[in-house]
Amino acid sequence: MWALGSCGVCCLGIAVFTCGVVMQVGAWTYYYSEEDYEWDDARTYCQTFFTDLVAIQNKEEIEYLNRTLPYHGKYYWIGIRKLRGIWTWVGTKKALTKEAANWATGEPNNRKFNQDCVEIYIKRSSEAGKWNDEPCTKKKKKALCYKVSCQPLICGLHGDCVEVIQSYKCECHPGFEGDKCENAVQCPILEPRGAYMNCSHPFGDFRYNSTCTFWCPEGFERRGADELQCLADRQWSVETPTCTAITCPELRAPEHAELNCSHLHGNFAFGSICDFSCQPGFELMGSQSHECMATGNWTGDIPRCKAVTCPVLSAPEHGELNCSHIHGNFTFGSTCDFSCLPGFELMGPVSHECTAMGTWTGDTPQCKAISCSVLSAPEYGELNCSHIHGNFTFGSTCAFSCQTGFVLMGPQSRECMAKRTWTGDTSRCKAVTCPVLSAPKHGELNCSHLHGNFTFGSICDFSCQSGFELIGPESCECTAMGTWSKNTPQCKAITCPVLGAPEHGELNCSHIHGNFTFGSTCDFSCLPGFELMGPVSHECTAMGTWTGDTPQCKAITCSLLTAPEHGELNCSHVYEKFTFGSICDFSCQTGFELIGPQSRECMATGTWTGDTSQCQAISCPVLDAPSHGHLNCSHTHGNFTFNSTCSFSCKEGFIQMGAEMLRCSATGNWTRHPPVCEEDSAAFLKQVLVYTSTSALAAIGLVLSGTLIALLAKQLSDREEKKKLLNPTSDLGAPGIFTNAAYDSTL
Ligand code: CA
Repeated sequence: MWALGSCGVCCLGIAVFTCGVVMQVGAWTYYYSEEDYEWDDARTYCQTFFTDLVAIQNKEEIEYLNRTLPYHGKYYWIGIRKLRGIWTWVGTKKALTKEAANWATGEPNNRKFNQDCVEIYIKRSSEAGKWNDEPCTKKKKKALCYKVSCQPLICGLHGDCVEVIQSYKCECHPGFEGDKCENAVQCPILEPRGAYMNCSHPFGDFRYNSTCTFWCPEGFERRGADELQCLADRQWSVETPTCTAITCPELRAPEHAELNCSHLHGNFAFGSICDFSCQPGFELMGSQSHECMATGNWTGDIPRCKAVTCPVLSAPEHGELNCSHIHGNFTFGSTCDFSCLPGFELMGPVSHECTAMGTWTGDTPQCKAISCSVLSAPEYGELNCSHIHGNFTFGSTCAFSCQTGFVLMGPQSRECMAKRTWTGDTSRCKAVTCPVLSAPKHGELNCSHLHGNFTFGSICDFSCQSGFELIGPESCECTAMGTWSKNTPQCKAITCPVLGAPEHGELNCSHIHGNFTFGSTCDFSCLPGFELMGPVSHECTAMGTWTGDTPQCKAITCSLLTAPEHGELNCSHVYEKFTFGSICDFSCQTGFELIGPQSRECMATGTWTGDTSQCQAISCPVLDAPSHGHLNCSHTHGNFTFNSTCSFSCKEGFIQMGAEMLRCSATGNWTRHPPVCEEDSAAFLKQVLVYTSTSALAAIGLVLSGTLIALLAKQLSDREEKKKLLNPTSDLGAPGIFTNAAYDSTL
């Protein structure tokens, strides 16, 4: 039993154990009961007289209790009990943390079902101060009580008063601070941007447990939590949310369009406005401007660009149309090429293009018949045409004809073709052709051609070179028939007089153009023994005359011959004196004989045959002086020759026998025998006789000679040889002079 009061129960007091009071340390004091109780009774005891069973706070407290409490064999109950399976501080109803546990080794073992209460070993031999779990109904232990220092609301509404040794302390609830836990912790002040915020601040602005809710204006969506709470760690529960503009699908410019956007809050986001426009040549189908709405959708449907349309074109008459369409039939960019059928040409632009304005470039062309060059009638001709599509255009045909004297060269008819040309070559009227004329030999041709060489109307004049004369017409004309009006003439060489060979000469001619005509040359030459007097060569001039006079052949002249000394010359001349053919005979006077040729002739070379002839005195035998005598001669023409006289003389004592003097006669004999010088008288007589007979014979011979000469002269009086014969006769000299022949014949 126990009751309140200072007696009968353990009283408060330091170090007084009579009342079971163990000690008082500051504001927190410990007490223990005198008796042993079950755990529940122990707690009732503590709650009745003190505050409650001890709640062990820390190691320091345990050490204090173990040191100050007396040893009790059954130890002391403390304020820890298993509630619903969890060890709980019964005073505070807080669970025992693992850190605060102070179990003895091997405890709590929970071997028994009801070991739900805890005792502390005080001053145990081992494990002093440690805890052990025991059945709560075990009636053997003292109650270990404490009395709190904490008073109600001493730590306010947001803190718990915790007993500590000799004092208490306020343990603030999470989110509070201060000695009495009077202040809520401060979180950062929220200042959201672009977002709306609504906060409730139970403990002050943006303090613990303040909650702020966020929302975004229309067209924006929140990123992050919608609500933030200020936590005990002074931080907001989550990041402050942001507001992001709602995005619409990204727009892209459709084909042939351009997009121009202005973005208020972000690319293609709420408030963005995009305007569509089309490229030139295209028109917008749909609304131009679009806005991104808060729903994330664009206002209106996306437009498209359609090519501008041009009027539909069609092929021209006689033509074709060939179009290429890029964006659609006859729309912007379509190109149409016009072409014409063969024979027609396009008047206007070939190519047309549909412009951005919806119009075609250029006017619509036409196909016009192709024009050929205008023809005119050929010169000297006529033209006759028929036209189908127009004058001188595709299909036109033209026929040609020519005037008299002309023939058509080329097609008779031509047609204008599709290729702008006429069929065939150009027709022309060509003058009728006459045979080509050439200049006559040795002549010249001088033509004037009216329409072409040697054609109708051509007139040709003929002329001859110098030395030739024209035989035939001087002029002729090419007629329309292609023939010449006259025959072609000839040029004939002018003739010179016919030449003949001169006397004693010859003529050698070379004729170029004909006998003795212009250009003929004749060379004169003479027979041997004659020389040409005059020009050798003659030429027939253009005047018909010969150059130079006709030459002559004259006998060649030899040197003039004279009679030799003591001789005579007798010449006969065939042509002229001492010329070719002349023959001269030589003869000598009595007592002389001819040395050299008796006759010489003038040769063709102009020289005489043979050497010069001379007359030499006839020699008599050389005389010697007689024995015992002397010889004394006088020589008129030479030693012992004709008319030399020699006289003899005998030495004294000798008698000259014979002639005293001897003369060399014309016969070459001495007139007498030479004498001798003898002593003998008989010999002297013989000599006289010989001398006498000789003289008689000489007288007879002289008579005979005179008779013979007279007879011969009479017989030769009328003959030319007369002179020949007469001359030597005249040389016989005076009577008494004998020739050798006469002398011999006389003998
Ligand atoms: Ca135990």
